[in-house]
Amino acid sequence: MPTIAVLGTGVMGAPMARNLARAGYAVRAWNRTIDKALPLRVDGVDVHDDPGDAAAGADVVMTMLADADAVLTVAERARLAAGQIWWQASTIGLAGTERCEELAGASGAVLVDAPVLGTRQPAEQAALVVLASGPDDALATSQPFFDAVASRTLRLGPAGTGTRLKLAVNTWVLAVTGGTAETIALARSLGIDPARVFEALEGGPLDLPYFRVKGQLMLDDEFPTSFALSLAAKDARLVGEAADRSGANLALTRSVAEQMSRAEESGLGDADMAAVYRVAAAG
Ligand code: NAP
Repeated sequence: MPTIAVLGTGVMGAPMARNLARAGYAVRAWNRTIDKALPLRVDGVDVHDDPGDAAAGADVVMTMLADADAVLTVAERARLAAGQIWWQASTIGLAGTERCEELAGASGAVLVDAPVLGTRQPAEQAALVVLASGPDDALATSQPFFDAVASRTLRLGPAGTGTRLKLAVNTWVLAVTGGTAETIALARSLGIDPARVFEALEGGPLDLPYFRVKGQLMLDDEFPTSFALSLAAKDARLVGEAADRSGANLALTRSVAEQMSRAEESGLGDADMAAVYRVAAAG
């Protein structure tokens, strides 16, 4: 039976591991805080306390960790073997992906740069979108694992392409979240019931589901975490770094990044990214 090791069982990694096990694959899992991985045992996941033990002999090793430093540290500890496929699913930007290419090159592992679109609920429902890039044969071997966690896979070309597309899409995510926060903050500050904003946009081309979901959290001023604000702030920095390299002038994303940094400094890092609303509303 094909075997996959899932390194990192947070908001995204845990449901992905569960869905891989439900699809019938042999799944091993490791998480720095093992308590977050142990509940996966009821789903038949083999939980290890060392990433090297989890990865040993697996056909595919997936990393789903917070940032590039975590990914590189854990991947080194996993002692990837020559020919082993390394599905790097975390969002780590251009420089982080280049560091992974170097590590893969040194060990002989095959890097599949395949970050995902979708948040907690799509991860639970196996409805993510995989932005897959890497050698064709490695993508073909990985496809059944992608199918177990996703409703769609885009095959994009050489490793690095998936990360570049992920950065472009995250620019949109950040714009919608920042725009939603400012729209609701301004409506309230002008004495307009924000529910009127939703009513005014209802059914039109600007009535995005994401605007409604994040907007509702802002109206309720409650931010259960689907996508941690600290990770969104990290993504905003990664987009900024990519733009600096490529020459795009992303004033909007820079501004959202600043708002997110402020929200992080005020202790909202673990809340959902929609908590950036608090900064917009605070004046
Ligand atoms: P999360 O719930 O915060 O989980 C982060 C994971 O990284 C945990 O397993 C954590 O371990 C581990 N970690 C952090 N620092 C570490 C270190 N220094 N050494 C070892 N492990 C470390 O995050 P998530 O939401 O699952 O996101 C994971 C990745 O997917 C991120 O790159 C994120 O940007 C990306 N992503 C997230 C979403 C989303 O909506 N949530 C969507 C698409 C992509 P502990 O449990 O021990 O802290």
